[in-house]
Amino acid sequence: MKLLPRRAGRAVLFLAVCLLLGNAPGAMAQKVPIAFDDYHGYTGTVEYIQRVARAYPDITELIEIGQSTLGRTQYVLVISNMKTGTTIDKMIELRNMRKENIRNVTPMKPYHGKPGQWIDGGTHGNEYTGTEVCLYIIDKLVTGYDSDPAIKKLIDDNAFYICPVVNPDGVFNSTEGDVSQRQNSMLADNDEDGQVNEDGPDDLNGDGHITQFRYRDPEGRYVMDDVDPRLMIRLGRDEETTRERWSVIREDRDNDGDGRRGEDGERGIDVNRNFPEGWFNDDNEQGGSGYYAASAPESRNILEFFTNNTNILLVQSFHTSGGFTYRPFARWSDSQIDPKDLAVFDRIMGKKYCQLLGVEYPAVWDEEAAPPAAGAAAGFARPRTGAPVPARARQGQGVRGRDQARTQAIGTTGSGYELPRQWRPPYRGDRPYGYGIFIDWAYAQFGSYSMTTELWNRSVDFVGMPEFTGDDAQVQRDRWLLLHQDEKFGGKFFIPWRSYRHPELGAGEIGGWIPRYGSGNNAFPGDPLRHVAEIHWQFELWKAGLLPKIEITDATAEVLYETSNASGATVQYQGDTATINRSGRRGAYRIVLVTATIENTGALATHVARGQRLAGNRNDVVWLIGDRDRITFLQGSAHQSIGVLEGTMPIPGIATSAPAAGGRSRQVQGMPNIPMGMPLELMQQFMQRMGGGQQAAREGNVREVKWLVAIEGNMPLKIVATSQKGGTAVREITLR
Ligand SMILES: [Zn+2]
Repeated sequence: MKLLPRRAGRAVLFLAVCLLLGNAPGAMAQKVPIAFDDYHGYTGTVEYIQRVARAYPDITELIEIGQSTLGRTQYVLVISNMKTGTTIDKMIELRNMRKENIRNVTPMKPYHGKPGQWIDGGTHGNEYTGTEVCLYIIDKLVTGYDSDPAIKKLIDDNAFYICPVVNPDGVFNSTEGDVSQRQNSMLADNDEDGQVNEDGPDDLNGDGHITQFRYRDPEGRYVMDDVDPRLMIRLGRDEETTRERWSVIREDRDNDGDGRRGEDGERGIDVNRNFPEGWFNDDNEQGGSGYYAASAPESRNILEFFTNNTNILLVQSFHTSGGFTYRPFARWSDSQIDPKDLAVFDRIMGKKYCQLLGVEYPAVWDEEAAPPAAGAAAGFARPRTGAPVPARARQGQGVRGRDQARTQAIGTTGSGYELPRQWRPPYRGDRPYGYGIFIDWAYAQFGSYSMTTELWNRSVDFVGMPEFTGDDAQVQRDRWLLLHQDEKFGGKFFIPWRSYRHPELGAGEIGGWIPRYGSGNNAFPGDPLRHVAEIHWQFELWKAGLLPKIEITDATAEVLYETSNASGATVQYQGDTATINRSGRRGAYRIVLVTATIENTGALATHVARGQRLAGNRNDVVWLIGDRDRITFLQGSAHQSIGVLEGTMPIPGIATSAPAAGGRSRQVQGMPNIPMGMPLELMQQFMQRMGGGQQAAREGNVREVKWLVAIEGNMPLKIVATSQKGGTAVREITLR
């Protein structure tokens, strides 16, 4: 073996370390370093995002969206180039707001004119892996901005909204308070004794942690492990043993003297059952949580934020346990999802997700997009057979530890294929999964492609853990975990047992896993956490690349003629060609034909199929803006609706008007065919009868819009194409 010079050897080593960590060398230039060898909790998360916001002022904005029940702030970090992007309100000068009857208009931020992608974590306080994955994504985005042109473009063109902690009180208690708390901390008198939160668990021995208390108990359900006596092994319900029996409880005492321990802690309501979609069940009982939908400040703050950021099209909510992704619905069956949305969810997003995990997906998802169907409404290209389509085995793609055998098809959707375990709706058979669920609201009422990912499945995602088999596989795993934290983390995640006399239970020992590390419910710090975070960063990055993008690809303003009096002139049309029969004398007015081509060059349409019909959503619009005192719209109003622009991505199984490849479909609107030689004023009447061309077909990803205007003198004109979730584009044109 030839030895490398010492310096080259170091460089190779450095590169190898970078590769091991999954980082490009450029990513080493972190202005705000972050590691994932421990959880950040609420406090560490807030510190980190505040530092990021200070270090990257040009591409971030940190927003306080409200307070939790106990007054902790909920934050959203917006990541977008703050110097690019515009909104329609910047283009139209209001001269007298009161006179023009404009009230309570909050100026839009430039990023409201860009497609938005929401990513959150920590809705359930004890599922803090989602918080960590949010921080990982933030780090990848802000460090990638300077080193990766693809990431830079995504941040220039789009807005990422990242809310790492939806439930500050629950995450705080679960990570910094040693009390696993799924719910918020809404004040509740759980034991109905007139006091609130008076009997939670206790740090009895004052070591700064609430761990466990173990004591000898002839009725106990535990025995001590022979191999590692730190480990307590739980017996089966009627399991016999000759060994000494123990009981193991949380470190706790009866604070309010009612004979129970820990029955009235801070635990409030489940925020992910408090959203206003499907909140009641069919039996007229309260199905969701809370006194009414959005009663929790945590959910209400999110709802208000969405209401003011209607550009969000993609929604991801990170939860923890299971190792799969839920797409809508939890409350309703697939029959309530538009087939087109279902196809985007499953055949595009679900397929990618399964590929990233290296698991099987239905073979039918590989079908090509159906060819355009003439005049047909969007629908399934082939009859539904009802017969389940066998899933085809997929080879794992660079994902370690995934057990192919664990993949199992579950249920048959309304679409005639079985869904893999890793990608499915929570709704099962004829049974709602829950009421008042966030992703149901985000899809059904807000109109976004929403999903919840349960990030962590300990038995397949724990990189580095050997495969254990046999009856005592669980015990072997638990032993290995103890040794792992001894070796990798210096044993700091497990408190050694020490004797303690419990005020109610007598002699015993306090010790055990610090709860946040020993739950088994969250990705273990270090490589397992980085591994899970990397996969889901890749998924979010890929989804960001699907966002729509409104562009004005062509715009012209053609002076047809100049006149002092338009009424004597005539215009002849042959197809798109206008011929002017001039009459009268030249004058101060120019008759101008303005033509603009608006195109969605992004993969996804500017709304989900359902989104077009939702009350809060509007169609894409194109404006022609000039000096309003000197422009008269002869045909076409200043703003014209152009419907919803499809994306460029064919949707498998769905017949669309967008060609599969190559060409593009084009609809002309705004100018119906005009009979030859029609005088201009008659033409206007004709246009009005035709509804100004507003009935023009609205399919495909391209629109051509025309206006006929009379302009006094000369002025620059602006075309502004604005789409709620597809972005805003501006183009200036000069008369020629
Ligand atoms: Zn959860």
